[in-house]
Amino acid sequence: MTEPSLASADASRPDAHLHEAYLREALALARESLARGSSPIGAVLVDRDGTVIARGRNRVGEPQTAERVGDASVAHAEMDVFFQAGKLENPQDLTLYSSLEPCLMCGGASALLEVGRIVWATDDAWGGSGRLLAWSDHPAMQETEIVPCPLPDLEAEGARLFAPEAKRAFPDEGWALWRQRYPAETEGV
Ligand SMILES: [Zn+2]
Repeated sequence: MTEPSLASADASRPDAHLHEAYLREALALARESLARGSSPIGAVLVDRDGTVIARGRNRVGEPQTAERVGDASVAHAEMDVFFQAGKLENPQDLTLYSSLEPCLMCGGASALLEVGRIVWATDDAWGGSGRLLAWSDHPAMQETEIVPCPLPDLEAEGARLFAPEAKRAFPDEGWALWRQRYPAETEGV
């Protein structure tokens, strides 16, 4: 079976540098999640002018507060972002940045909300939804552009950051896919 062309990290992509600051912020939020006992995934939502309008991070392992959904299996970074952002205006002008390829829930939510673009630092070879979103012929999932792994250095950083969680949380075949996708970054984990 031929691999889809999504996975290539293309440093020559001319606008790759435009994503750097936002992906770095998502990775910083991911590290904050890890320090607080949640899964290391962070996300930011950016408008057309480049202004960050919402920040979120995984809160699955933390208590729920009045301000933040936590202590729930669905308390993913991208959902945190969407709760913070509230009702989206002109979602087609928004870009969602995530440290990791969004899962089916978060990618599906982004597509159904008609977020214009999703950019992620690192592929999730087991749990990611990018290939589904790209291939889907569902009429509600046609408006979202995806930009996987535009910056190789940050892709590797994100893979190293999430690898222990991938090994812990995913079944053996999931971890095998991670080993295959990121052999250097998962070595010795
Ligand atoms: Zn998710």
